[in-house]
Amino acid sequence: MTSMLDAVVVGAGPNGLTAAVELARRGFSVAVFEAADTVGGGARTEELTLPGFRHDPCSAVHPLGMGSPVFGTMPLGRYGLEWLHPELPMAHPFDDGTAAVLSRSVAETAASFGPRDAGAYRRLVAPFLGKWDTLARDFMSLPLTALPRDPVTLARFGLAGLPPSTWLARRFHDEKARALFAGLVGHVIAPLNGLATGAVGLIFALAAHAGGWPLPRGGSQSISDALAEYLRDLGGSVHTGYEVKRLDELPPARAYVFDTSPTALARIAGLGRVYDGYRYGASVFKIDYALDGPVPWTAEDPRRAGTVQIGPTSGEIGTALRLVAAGHPPATPFLITAQPSLVDPSRAPEGKHVFWAYGHVPSGWQGDLTDAVERQLERFAPGFRDRVLARATAGPPELAARNPNYVGGDIACGAASGLQLLLRPKISLSPYTTPHPAVFICSSATPPGPGVHGMSGHNAAKAVWRRLREV
Ligand SMILES: Cc1cc2nc3c(=O)[nH]c(=O)nc-3n(C[C@H](O)[C@H](O)[C@H](O)COP(=O)(O)OP(=O)(O)OC[C@H]3O[C@@H](n4cnc5c(N)ncnc54)[C@H](O)[C@@H]3O)c2cc1C
Repeated sequence: MTSMLDAVVVGAGPNGLTAAVELARRGFSVAVFEAADTVGGGARTEELTLPGFRHDPCSAVHPLGMGSPVFGTMPLGRYGLEWLHPELPMAHPFDDGTAAVLSRSVAETAASFGPRDAGAYRRLVAPFLGKWDTLARDFMSLPLTALPRDPVTLARFGLAGLPPSTWLARRFHDEKARALFAGLVGHVIAPLNGLATGAVGLIFALAAHAGGWPLPRGGSQSISDALAEYLRDLGGSVHTGYEVKRLDELPPARAYVFDTSPTALARIAGLGRVYDGYRYGASVFKIDYALDGPVPWTAEDPRRAGTVQIGPTSGEIGTALRLVAAGHPPATPFLITAQPSLVDPSRAPEGKHVFWAYGHVPSGWQGDLTDAVERQLERFAPGFRDRVLARATAGPPELAARNPNYVGGDIACGAASGLQLLLRPKISLSPYTTPHPAVFICSSATPPGPGVHGMSGHNAAKAVWRRLREV
């Protein structure tokens, strides 16, 4: 006879694994069921192009992982996780061959914006410097799953960040700061004038100054493998190659925690129409490149940056984001690119490089953005195409096929716009619970939303252990 488990977790993405670890380390028995053959969800590494080129099909750069309050409590280094820091977290090149940078140093960042905006940038970030630990914990525990430790700084952050990012950008005179900041907001695929988009840009900037934007040695799979190994040491089990279709096919458990989309959860757990109002957002067109050498950037700074944003004006970035939200592919896409093998030679054969890039496209879009992406790359790195040995592309249909959480190819598992940026999957003070008392949701469809930080998993686990201790 099988004994009753305390918790079953459906999905081994960073949030599912974190929820499982958080329960296991509090003495609860946990089993994880994952549809794919390997753990990781959006944090995985694969040889997608040629032998020896180790690509991250999804997440690559981890400001929020490095600065995650819950990862910070786990001994993940013992399980092989090592953060590698590029010389510069991020660079943002312009048509004139110069670049703005997001450096760990506030002074270097401010200086790259030019004399008219350096002071405005320093004043913007000053109230939050040295306060990342409490601010990240407070912000990532909204809506109030924990009492704020520093309510004054959180309120100040809210005042700066709650309005649209376009308000925040008015502090700057020149395009360097404006474009870089618009690019930061673009990391969540939200139109620049959306509610709280200022907070998005600000949190990415503050993360760079607090801990950098590192990449894990070996690729983002290392984060997932470390979490899974830690879970096994804590007595938890992980079952891969098992797609959960119905609640009653799972082993009996006191709680079921879903690292899935709200739509899949409602279907699997028979919750009816409870999440019918939940909106999915735009998608991306992802390209993983095997290169014969480093990207030949015209500007110097991108050559030493882990991440390079491509969009020379806030107007150009804003147009790309607006077009995509309205269902049109952009002719001139805004790109986020990453250069893992600059800091991690294990990712490619000697002298060769992996290069990671995506641009935004509408939900479900079936076209090919390769040419538009490479035109943008050639604009800032002439000769790029000559270095390409192989490329692997994935648009919305391929992304959705690989991971059911990416509904229509939405890599944020739900539109990060309007109130849904902060309050998801429904407006509630306990977003992790569902109408079924034993069923919980922990995916990035819950606060604090997308990114490899495990905080949705942590917050959901807290709701679960409170319930388990009640009954
Ligand atoms: C192209 C791309 C680039 C990205 N870049 C970054 C980045 O640089 N930095 C960053 O921090 N984040 C990045 N992200 C976002 C990040 O990957 C996600 O926000 C994060 O993985 C969400 O974690 P999760 O645990 O909520 O869900 P996921 O990682 O999506 O994991 C969900 C898991 O559940 C499994 N599952 C779903 N349904 C079932 C079922 N019925 N039965 C069993 N298993 C199921 C899935 O197979 C999957 O393994 C990127 C994502 C993509 C796609």
